[in-house]
Amino acid sequence: MPAKRDYYEVLGVRRNATGEEIRKAFRQLAFKYHPDHNRGDGAEENFKEVNEAYEVLSDSEKRAAYDRFGHSGADGLFGRGFGGFDFGFGDIFDTFFGGATTTTRQAPQRGAPLEYRLAITLEEAAFGCEREIEITHVEHCSECQGTGSKPGTQPERCPNCDGAGQVRRVQASIFGRFTNIATCPQCHGEGRIITEPCPKCRGTGREKRKRQLNVKVPAGVDSGNQIRVRGEGDAGTRGGSPGDLFIEVLVDKHECFTRDGDDVIYNLPLNFAQAALGTEVNVPTLDGDHKLKIPAGCQTGTVFRIKNKGIQHLSRGGRGDELVTVSVETPESLTKEQRRLFEELADSFDTRNKKRKKR
Ligand SMILES: [Zn+2]
Ligand SMILES: [Zn+2]
Repeated sequence: MPAKRDYYEVLGVRRNATGEEIRKAFRQLAFKYHPDHNRGDGAEENFKEVNEAYEVLSDSEKRAAYDRFGHSGADGLFGRGFGGFDFGFGDIFDTFFGGATTTTRQAPQRGAPLEYRLAITLEEAAFGCEREIEITHVEHCSECQGTGSKPGTQPERCPNCDGAGQVRRVQASIFGRFTNIATCPQCHGEGRIITEPCPKCRGTGREKRKRQLNVKVPAGVDSGNQIRVRGEGDAGTRGGSPGDLFIEVLVDKHECFTRDGDDVIYNLPLNFAQAALGTEVNVPTLDGDHKLKIPAGCQTGTVFRIKNKGIQHLSRGGRGDELVTVSVETPESLTKEQRRLFEELADSFDTRNKKRKKR
């Protein structure tokens, strides 16, 4: 830790400087190292050093101890930090010069975003669709156009701050007298006061309204995708832009297809005869029925790919495929005739098995 500089040297004053000279020197240096004027290297350190020096030299008791014992005298007499000297940079500034943050209250504020969940079918996701939705968002009051004043009346200039929205307060502190700028408590920074509030919005200038919106859902969306509709969130304040509407898509389960990325999977049940002999079946696709040839001896788990019958790719051209998965189903009950035929079939399989064994 570097040695502490002499407090008189820090403030650039003589050892016999008057209180007025010390205060003047401090104010000049404090402004010099102020974060608004000086963002250079070490400005914050310099600012703290200047404050610390002033803290001691502006207090006759502390100054006397410092003159006699130096830094150790001041520290020893008053302890570390003189009861909370180690305040943050921002605190120092807000206390003595008025926070720069007070002005933000009057700045235009963007409206809040709005969320909406939209359930669509797999077909709508595959090809895109247009849907009418109803939302409720905050708009400017239709009666007063957002002014908050009863139509025909005008807000009055705030008498407390004379329309500035801010008030200056002279504050006495251990560093001297400083002007503190604060948001006007009467008009809350608006500079104007509504004398006759609009009866519809009670002076807020805002109202909730239902709106029908036509939403274009692009082909290829999936559950969890968001569609952003600009400006359909809540209205902004003080001329701020409105927030956006975010529509979260939820794709419903389909009765015959499951989705795998941009492919759709269809489970095709076949009976023993179809699987053994081969056949031609109509399988459903997103575009209607499609004729599919099943070769003889088809097994459970066989997958047939029908090209370009899946879901449209969201960000590029083309479509996914439909995957037809075969499952051969065992009959759970048989008619008398079917039973007789199966028994005959069993005998013939037995014979073949026996013949095989003989070989
Ligand atoms: Zn109104
Ligand atoms: Zn005011």
